[in-house]
Amino acid sequence: MELTWIGHGSFRFDTSDGTRVYVDPFLTHNPKCPDAEKEPERVDVIAVTHGHMDHIANVADLAKKHGATVIAMIEIGDWLASKHGVDESKLQCGNKGGATEAGGVRFTLVGAQHSSGLPDGSYGGEAAGIVAEADGKAVYFAGDTDVFGDMALIGRLYAPDLAVLPIGDFFTMGPKQAALALELLGTKRCLPCHYGTFPPLVGTPAELKKLAPNVTVEDIEPGQSITV
Ligand SMILES: [Zn+2]
Repeated sequence: MELTWIGHGSFRFDTSDGTRVYVDPFLTHNPKCPDAEKEPERVDVIAVTHGHMDHIANVADLAKKHGATVIAMIEIGDWLASKHGVDESKLQCGNKGGATEAGGVRFTLVGAQHSSGLPDGSYGGEAAGIVAEADGKAVYFAGDTDVFGDMALIGRLYAPDLAVLPIGDFFTMGPKQAALALELLGTKRCLPCHYGTFPPLVGTPAELKKLAPNVTVEDIEPGQSITV
């Protein structure tokens, strides 16, 4: 699959059969989102890790405009339907450990150490990570999280080919914890995110590279892609 960083914690990927998936789309008010990415031409599936504004800001609008399937925790699905009029038939919102398939991609919600209040103060359930499996590959989107010991279980269960980890510090783990996360996961390739968007997010890929010398740390700019 082809994975494009849209800045901050936002991504899109395309599978070999043409499904386009957005993960945590934060486009309109994301200072790092390239202009060319602000108005998606096509959205088949949206996967959401948690309820904070910098992850959910564009979810409802995109889901309604494109008729996209939404993958998220059940509380977020309920909120999208009840408060924003997202079509309930498009929601595939379960809970951790459970998997669902959409557009030929298998999505599993997994643990995360973070909070998940929704922008209007509604309860958003617990924050999650997402494992996406397609084209014989597995990508672990950690969402916003600290490192936690059960990342070893995620490694054993899904053997991610790529770990997408936050490294900015302040709201999430920084490079030090991310290096340990990679050790627990046993994953040899990392795409760091959630850094550089705002002044407190000081972690850098260079620091992570130093701390995880045996891992390929992809250091790309928003708008650039990697192949998984
Ligand atoms: Zn965030």
